[in-house]
Amino acid sequence: EVLVIGSVNADLVVRVPHHPRPGETVLGADLVVHPGGKGANQAVAAARLGARVAFAGRVGSDAYGPMLLDSLRGAGVDTALVGVSDGASGVAMITVDDAGENAIAVSPGANATVLPAAMAQVEAVLATVPVVVTQLEIPDEAVDWLLRLGRAHGTRVVVNPSPGPWRTSDDNVAACDPLVVNRIEAAEILGMPSFGGTPDEALAALRTWRDRPLRPKSVVVTLGGDGAVLFDGDGEPVHVPAAKVAPVDTTGAGDAFTGALAWRLARGDGLADAVRLAVRVGAAATTRAGAQSSYPTLAELAERAPE
Ligand code: ADP
Repeated sequence: EVLVIGSVNADLVVRVPHHPRPGETVLGADLVVHPGGKGANQAVAAARLGARVAFAGRVGSDAYGPMLLDSLRGAGVDTALVGVSDGASGVAMITVDDAGENAIAVSPGANATVLPAAMAQVEAVLATVPVVVTQLEIPDEAVDWLLRLGRAHGTRVVVNPSPGPWRTSDDNVAACDPLVVNRIEAAEILGMPSFGGTPDEALAALRTWRDRPLRPKSVVVTLGGDGAVLFDGDGEPVHVPAAKVAPVDTTGAGDAFTGALAWRLARGDGLADAVRLAVRVGAAATTRAGAQSSYPTLAELAERAPE
């Protein structure tokens, strides 16, 4: 019911007392390797909640390729549309210092080969699902192509343009339904220094966005501990607050949010209802370490983040 197209990375994480400066060597703790990548994270988040999810992307012919495929399959994601490219898989080299701050260098590897020509089988699957979701750790032209396919087949396209900036046409932006961004990305797109401090200010900023002649069909802006705000078409913007939690690790919370949102939209929820569920899933994902390892099942969600 949901097709996710995007990146899949091996996250190589080393905890260090402080981040190395240029030319410096720092001794850290043992290397930990996690499955990651925004696309794979979103697919796993939806699958964990019980969605039927197909993931389309590419891994490398290195040792990480099979590991990344196994982790997707282990979460119940259909990987028939995952191809193998000669060469390296996508890798994120992450150091985390004693303050919990991270520094990340990403090597796209096989994710750079997620191009329309390499994804011939995607169209047939896209034509059969209500919702497809994508992000920007794959080439921009793949995202533009998906929006075209979405229009051709009447499939709703959820776009999480992260990491930005997204260089695309106004027509493509207008086709996003919804565009899912965090505060920083929203400010960038709107050319504003910041996007709303308080939820009320976020609603006001969203109103100016909604009233622009060229704007996405719908927009969701995530606000971290403040939940999210949204507008749907010409409708009045709505704020969905998050429950108070004690965050342990916010890595991948935004991806959990987007995966959950896509699944609820595929099930026929209205946008505000889908965001309500997604905010709970995002909050639950902050209460455990890691990205995919922190994603809740529906049963855990009922326990950890009751309505
Ligand atoms: P990103 O991590 O992509 O920058 P946000 O920080 O806006 O995005 O977080 C995305 C979602 O994760 C939020 O909408 C919310 O559901 C959840 N979340 C993040 N931080 C917190 C927090 N401190 N408390 C509760 N929920 C949170």
